[in-house]
Amino acid sequence: MARVAVVTGGTRGIGRAVCEQLRSDGFTVVANYAGNADAARAFSDDTGIPAYRFDVGDHQAATEACARIGEEVGPIDVVVNNAGITRDGTLLKMSYEDWNDVMRVNLGGCFTMAKACFPGMKERGWGRIVNIGSINGQAGQYGQVNYAAAKSGIHGFTKALAQEGARFNVTVNAIAPGYIDTDMVAAVPEPVLEKIVAKIPVGRLGHANEIARGVSFLCSEDAGFVTGSTMSINGGQHMY
Ligand code: NDP
Repeated sequence: MARVAVVTGGTRGIGRAVCEQLRSDGFTVVANYAGNADAARAFSDDTGIPAYRFDVGDHQAATEACARIGEEVGPIDVVVNNAGITRDGTLLKMSYEDWNDVMRVNLGGCFTMAKACFPGMKERGWGRIVNIGSINGQAGQYGQVNYAAAKSGIHGFTKALAQEGARFNVTVNAIAPGYIDTDMVAAVPEPVLEKIVAKIPVGRLGHANEIARGVSFLCSEDAGFVTGSTMSINGGQHMY
């Protein structure tokens, strides 16, 4: 029977590319989304992949949804923690709510999904968790203390949980994307984006499927010896 993979924030952008990649790798894929029902419907109509609506930052809602996916689709073998938001602003302008929302969704969502799915993976002796971090969690970014802290936290979370999963064939890894041409980056003002692209050695934004290929490897049998790692996929930007 095909293994079941859940991709949070799977209906748009990087998550959508990950869903399509994992399906073509032979997984039974389930996507999650927060509230954009039109995008979710278009995604499911196009791909035939079911989309479950829940807030990954809401511990109870996410726990209940994972239990429902377990019953309706099958035990969850792979979790890709991809759902993420930005609430940018310099520290002086950032509200506590902006801080908290980003921590709750971007970092809290990883905890909640792992809490719901890791025990079953451990019990069955196989699992893959891939957390989507960011180059801005590695290097920091002006106007993003909340986002950079949450993404940096993901990298620590990954290394800690990897140590708990290793003996049970449950690998836990992260991918740190650079700038990828999704809706999230479309929100960056054009002049700012031009400056960012100028700093990317390959001279362009990345594409969602370039992140999906990395996720695909980390979820494969071949990656059984890779755990606690962060794969940087950023056109060489991490060198600067
Ligand atoms: P998009 O904004 O294009 O898509 C975000 C997805 O996450 C949507 O499906 C959205 O659902 C979902 N989502 C948002 N909040 C929640 C929530 N609380 N619960 C469940 N789902 C949620 O994002 P990207 O594809 O650009 O980014 C994907 C991940 O990659 C994020 O973690 C981001 O931080 C990270 N990343 C992106 C980079 C980039 O350049 N694009 C660079 C580095 C990292 P809905 O449609 O309902 O809103």
